[in-house]
Amino acid sequence: MIRERVAAVRESIARAAARVGRRAEDITLVAVSKTHPPEAVREAFAAGLTHFGENRVQEAEGKIEALEDLRGQITWHLVGHLQTNKARKAARLFDRIHSIDGADLGVKLARAAAEAGRSLPVLAQVDLGQEVTKFGLDEGGLFETLAGLKGVPGIEVVGLMTLPPFEEDPEKVRPFFRKLRELLGEAASRGLVAGSELSMGMSHDLEVAVEEGATVVRVGTAIFGERTPG
Ligand SMILES: *Cc1c(COP(=O)(O)O)cnc(C)c1O
Repeated sequence: MIRERVAAVRESIARAAARVGRRAEDITLVAVSKTHPPEAVREAFAAGLTHFGENRVQEAEGKIEALEDLRGQITWHLVGHLQTNKARKAARLFDRIHSIDGADLGVKLARAAAEAGRSLPVLAQVDLGQEVTKFGLDEGGLFETLAGLKGVPGIEVVGLMTLPPFEEDPEKVRPFFRKLRELLGEAASRGLVAGSELSMGMSHDLEVAVEEGATVVRVGTAIFGERTPG
C-alpha cells in the first residue's frame, strides 16, 4: 500500500518537474509520518524513502527511539512549530528544522546544537497568509530574523519554508509559493541565507509547489493515508 503510494507521489513530482524543465532528483521528498506508528515509517523506508518529518517533538521522540536502528540512514525533519523550551531536545533529535520563526528560537537552538557538537541546518518559516492561527514570520520579521542569525555558530539557515492557507484548488496557492521563491532570492542577494532550499508543497498542492521551485516537499496523507483524529 505505502509502496504504491510512494511510487505515485514520485511520479507526480517527476511530472511537475518535467513541465518546468527541472530534474526530479533535485527535489527531496519528506514523508510526514505524524500520527502514524514506527511500523509505517519502516514500510516507507523499505519503499526507498530516507527523509521523514514530524510536527511535534514529543511524538517524534518515541518514534525516533523506536527506529534507533535506522538512525544513521534516516534524516529526521521537524516541520511543525517549535517552542523555545523544547529547543534543546529538538537539537538532539532532528537533523533539520523547518520552523524557525524568530531569532530567539534560532539562538537557543544554535546554542543547544553547538553544545551537542553539531551544526544544524534550519529553515525560516514564513507566513504569507497572515493568518493569526498560523506560525511563521511576516516579510519584515523574516529579514530581521535572518540578519540576527547570520554567522551564529551551531545553526545554518539553508532556506525558507511556508505552509499556505488550505485551498481546495491548488492553483490558488501558487502566488504564495511564488512569493516564497522571491523572498529567498532577496535573502540570497543580501547574503542572509547559506543555502537555497524552498520547503513548500504538501499532498494536495505539491505539483504546483514543484512548478514554482520547491526543493523539498512535505507529504503525509498521500503516502500514509488519512490521519486518524486525536
Ligand atoms: C502534516 C503536515 C504536512 C503534510 O500534510 P499532508 O497534507 O498530509 O501531505 C506538511 N507540512 C506540515 C508542516 C505538516 O504539519
